[in-house]
Amino acid sequence: MPIPAERKMDVLVALCKRRGFVYPDSEIYGGFANAWDFGPYGVELKNNIRDAWWDRFVRGREDVVGVDTPIIQHSRIWEASGHVQNFSDPLVECKACHKRFRADHLLEASQAEPGYDKERPANLRDIRCPECGGGLTDVMHFNLMLKTFIGPKEEASNLAYLRPETAAGMFTAWANIRDTMRKRLPFGIAQVGRAFRNEITPGNFIFRLREFEQMEIEYFVKPEDAPRAFDMWLDAYKAWVRDVLRLSDANVQYREIPDAERAFYSARSIDPEYLFPFGMKELGGLANRTDYDLSRHQECSKQDLRILDPETNERVLPYVIEPTWGLTRSVLAVLCEHLDEDRAPTADKEDDEARLVLRLPPRLAPVKAAILPLTKKDGLPEIARELATNLHRRGIVAEEDESGSIGKRYRRQDEIGTPWCFTIDHQTTEDKTVTVRDRDGMSQSRVPLADVPAWVMEKLSV
Ligand code: ATP
Repeated sequence: MPIPAERKMDVLVALCKRRGFVYPDSEIYGGFANAWDFGPYGVELKNNIRDAWWDRFVRGREDVVGVDTPIIQHSRIWEASGHVQNFSDPLVECKACHKRFRADHLLEASQAEPGYDKERPANLRDIRCPECGGGLTDVMHFNLMLKTFIGPKEEASNLAYLRPETAAGMFTAWANIRDTMRKRLPFGIAQVGRAFRNEITPGNFIFRLREFEQMEIEYFVKPEDAPRAFDMWLDAYKAWVRDVLRLSDANVQYREIPDAERAFYSARSIDPEYLFPFGMKELGGLANRTDYDLSRHQECSKQDLRILDPETNERVLPYVIEPTWGLTRSVLAVLCEHLDEDRAPTADKEDDEARLVLRLPPRLAPVKAAILPLTKKDGLPEIARELATNLHRRGIVAEEDESGSIGKRYRRQDEIGTPWCFTIDHQTTEDKTVTVRDRDGMSQSRVPLADVPAWVMEKLSV
């Protein structure tokens, strides 16, 4: 039973706090607006997405290599990339209540209103403050890069930026990778890491943050191969969203960005979007960035960034196809997609009750197996301990829980998305079998205790 969109974020935010996925940051100091801590289960979920991505796109391919570059790099990089001049959002402020908004978001919202006339495109001059109805200022441009200073003096020559995206490091490392990794075009460089943006309107839980994580690939190709590589990455993107994040087709769209909205250097862009409870929003991006980045860095660094094409013996400046995945946003999409509510039997079996369940793909679930001794005596906790040790030894995250009624323990595991619960009961001491309960269907069956690790490994491999 899906949770209605208008209720879903409240239910999710409460569950994330109650169950240790995401907590408000700096809470003991009264909180720090729009900053969140990933708790023990949240960080496992995030790392599982990151690891699945790295395994699939870096370790699983011969044409992509990884890199890890600093958050603070040479300031000239951001001049070359155009971020110092252009990385800004259009900001308007209400003259009455002084709330600030992104002008493009207000325009988008007004276009979504009933009765919107496509023949008369919305004009910012006609839009009033959505909070108090006051008049808005003219558009101001606001650079999103967070600044800091290197060294003891806060002066212009020491100014440095926290990277607003991970991509730049792949371009600055390009020459070294070209010279050391013996790769031929096409090949890509991948990076996962934090990026920082001084967002005007952060919010919607972890959707828009000032500090977030991206997973990006810069895929270098001969210019004539760029359209084909773009299609290849679009297919790879779709397969990832469908098979790993398991977002349903009905909730995902791949939006072709029209010429007028696209960056001037981009030959083609598609934004993968997801239907969050607060609307269809960007999840990531895919762009054919032509040779814009390498030619800008070539010009500004005065280094030759071309690569030798052994077939023609000519040096070429590659085009770049850039698929970007928002890691933090992927966590939110996965939580929204798989949070569900149904009914479960209660202990007395007379009645049933509402059950919240995170139907996470097993590979992404923070805990794979819960081990639940029915009572705290008769040797059951010892059997549970031994089973948990056996699972841990094989790298399977398992959690023992012996407190509270079995029903309450199941409910807790359902809410953290544990796909399987193994219950150790008195029959276990007699015939060495345990009950396995499936999270989604709540069906139960018995498996030999000794087979549990192999059983879990097999289920995780599909
Ligand atoms: P938006 O239009 O939502 O501001 P953008 O088009 O500026 O996003 P990109 O620069 O294309 O975003 O960044 C690539 C990806 O990085 C986004 O699709 C998103 O997944 C992630 N991302 C960007 N900004 C944020 C943020 N403030 N918080 C969380 N994730 C972000």
